[in-house]
Amino acid sequence: MSDPAERVAELRRLTAEWRGCTACALAQTRTQVVVGDGDPQADLMFVGEAPGFHEDRQGVPFVGQAGGVLDGLLEQIGLDRRSVYIANVLKCRPPGNRDPDPDEIAACEGHLFAQVELIQPVVICTLGNFATRLLSGQPAGITRVHGRPQRRRIGSRELVLYPIFHPAAALYTPTMMQALREDFGRLPELLSARPEPAPAPELPASPPQQPRYAQLGLF
Ligand code: URA
Repeated sequence: MSDPAERVAELRRLTAEWRGCTACALAQTRTQVVVGDGDPQADLMFVGEAPGFHEDRQGVPFVGQAGGVLDGLLEQIGLDRRSVYIANVLKCRPPGNRDPDPDEIAACEGHLFAQVELIQPVVICTLGNFATRLLSGQPAGITRVHGRPQRRRIGSRELVLYPIFHPAAALYTPTMMQALREDFGRLPELLSARPEPAPAPELPASPPQQPRYAQLGLF
């Protein structure tokens, strides 16, 4: 789908559809599905892990403490959340904010790949391990790969994947917060350097026929 207006309309349609999702057991414990927030045509997309308490209540990603950090970092580079798109690997809150289960990621990842396909971001900034592993298709943890842009094909698109620490993890660790600020500071440069088509690892088309985590044993 190449027409921008059609892509925006399709994202809106899917967003409404996903609000009734019952693909995994989280449907029984969530307050609501938290699909995403921001500009559906953004060049910059953020992908976190899963909604927490406040996100589950308000239906918007990153509105709690971690969201405050993200808003501050965006301000530091002259952006605000209305000019980017923010989503999560899981669209529903795991009880007690536990880690996502592999079967929940498998049930939900098609939503994220569809969002990427319709938004067509230039840069996807993955926040923490879960988003980084899912979208890179690689098992390397965030401590090893943060701050290093990776050129990737995701679905039909060539883009830059840029892993950084999760704001929640950095909240109580000053050295991690410092690294997060420094990594974040490189985003404007990455956004202005549009990627040339280049070889990317062979990864399944989006949405995958089989869950990506299952193919690669990532989680
Ligand atoms: N942490 C996340 O990963 N996502 C949110 O939406 C909020 C906190």
